[in-house]
Amino acid sequence: MTVKPSMLAPGSVIGVLGGGQLGRFLAMAAADLGFACHVYCPEPDSPAFALADQHMIAPYEDEAALTRFAEQVDVVTYEFENVPAATVEVLEALVPVLPGRRALETAQDRLAEKRFFSDLGIEVAPFAEVNDAADLERALGEIGAPAILKTRRFGYDGKGQARIGHRDEAGPALESLRGAPAILEQVIDFDFEISVIAARCRSGDFAAYAPGRNIHRNHILDQTFVPADIPAELERRAVEICRTITEALDYAGVIGVEFFVCDGGARLLVNEIAPRVHNSGHWTLDGAPASQFEQHIRAVAGWPLRDPCRHSDAVMTNLIGEDVESWGKWAAEPLTAVHLYGKPEVRAGRKMGHVTRLTPMTPDAGD
Ligand code: ATP
Ligand code: MG
Repeated sequence: MTVKPSMLAPGSVIGVLGGGQLGRFLAMAAADLGFACHVYCPEPDSPAFALADQHMIAPYEDEAALTRFAEQVDVVTYEFENVPAATVEVLEALVPVLPGRRALETAQDRLAEKRFFSDLGIEVAPFAEVNDAADLERALGEIGAPAILKTRRFGYDGKGQARIGHRDEAGPALESLRGAPAILEQVIDFDFEISVIAARCRSGDFAAYAPGRNIHRNHILDQTFVPADIPAELERRAVEICRTITEALDYAGVIGVEFFVCDGGARLLVNEIAPRVHNSGHWTLDGAPASQFEQHIRAVAGWPLRDPCRHSDAVMTNLIGEDVESWGKWAAEPLTAVHLYGKPEVRAGRKMGHVTRLTPMTPDAGD
């Protein structure tokens, strides 16, 4: 076995921007491979702090703190896509920042993202740029209603979105976004949603898990089912689109690509990408030999990727807000893995944990 000089040695320090549950799982995966993890997050009591070797509490705009952080780590990655461009600039001058600036810039702006997909020949919902009432009027003329007005930046869990059922709802929808630059998207009458979670290394090595089928509740991911119960040909197409995206971005790390499946699978539209580990990939912690978090750490450390196969079918259910009070019920199921994020305060809409119910796959008995 040869160790390439590009492979980060155990004992190296992986810096993570963001201290939520994704950072927490990344810290655990890093520790498993003998790395130390240093988490940078402005909020005290961040869930990842308890599992990381070191942490720094400072704003993302604090250049002196960022410089100190960069000096203490060997590579930087992030658990959320809204890392300010100026933060990346400060860090990048001192240490590699992965998955990479191109991916971050693309995923941060829904308009840039949609144009990027279109340029690659990947189908998306019809969309138009909206900066004022005149733009919206024109866009509704082109796209029609129902449509969704979305802020270009900082949206998550359906925040920063307003549905326009009829054209006379345009005014209130625009007002609700308070002047933020936006895009209008046609409402897609999809059959269901799937996502592909995959890892890519700068060497070109690529490994995609089986797609998951995603169910949302109140605009927040509720459940992911793996397998997605889709034809093999549709799965291949989704994975190839994911590969095309990662290559165009010269990506290093795990990516989540969200799709709308339409017309019985005849049309496959990309909704958006997450340039990071993704909630719909949490089942890999328990249903696969290598989790998305291990793959991400390997990819940013320049290690080879593991096989993305699974040993169990899985149903992942998020515990949102008061759902977490049912932890005892889930804990009593022997084939269910319970993951609680250690957040001190239960709030409506807050992701408090998730559970994954497994069905181990038995080898085909054959004839
Ligand atoms: P998340 O953080 O959960 O990914 P988000 O705030 O980034 O959400 P989107 O992924 O754009 O927002 O939208 C959230 C959900 O709203 C989608 O998964 C889908 O169910 C629905 N949705 C978004 N855009 C459309 C569309 N054009 N047509 C139909 N449904 C849509
Ligand atoms: Mg989404």
